[in-house]
Amino acid sequence: MTTLVLATHNEGKKRELLTILSPVLGADTTVLTAAEAGLDDVPETGVTFIENALIKARAAAMATGRTAIADDSGISVDVLGGAPGIFSARWSGTHGDDRANLDLLLAQLSDIAEEHRGAQFRCAAAAVTADGREFTAEGVMPGSLATEPRGENGFGYDPIFVPEGSTISAAQMSAEEKNSRSHRRIAFDALAEILAAEPDL
Ligand code: IMP
Repeated sequence: MTTLVLATHNEGKKRELLTILSPVLGADTTVLTAAEAGLDDVPETGVTFIENALIKARAAAMATGRTAIADDSGISVDVLGGAPGIFSARWSGTHGDDRANLDLLLAQLSDIAEEHRGAQFRCAAAAVTADGREFTAEGVMPGSLATEPRGENGFGYDPIFVPEGSTISAAQMSAEEKNSRSHRRIAFDALAEILAAEPDL
């Protein structure tokens, strides 16, 4: 039986992660959210997605004495040199104000032509065991930015992100369609493969 602590309050992430990890680590894999494990939030002082994912996973592993998993993600826009990047959740100044973040990004790119609107969703996934082993994996979902929001599904920048090879925004896709090839999915698939080879998680 493998019990992993997931350093997030997001129940959706917990469900998605169980779907990815159970086939690899075993059907008896249990995932506890930060609330279920009694974790406090830690300051995300890193300057890369990997550093921030590791900071969260380390803190959760130390606090619980269990293997902990965390992710950090965001959107990187080519013409902005990779920004908003680690500042994605607070690009407009207010943490978690998805609509304000999206509106500011659209305004910043208002004069930029379609061929220069390339962007990627990026995710770093990290696992830290109670005895201090650390593992990381990254996932990228390439795409481009639309000129106006479309769709009601998803969260964050989904309404203005058009995945590569698609004509609809990520917010117009079903959760299954988006998750099947998302940055988060790719990162956690890779992390699951690494963890499957590790003894005593
Ligand atoms: P976090 O890793 O959950 O803290 O996410 C950071 C921020 O990146 C979110 O607040 C969103 O603005 C953005 N983001 C990350 N992944 C996605 C996604 O799949 N769709 C839309 N926005 C995302």
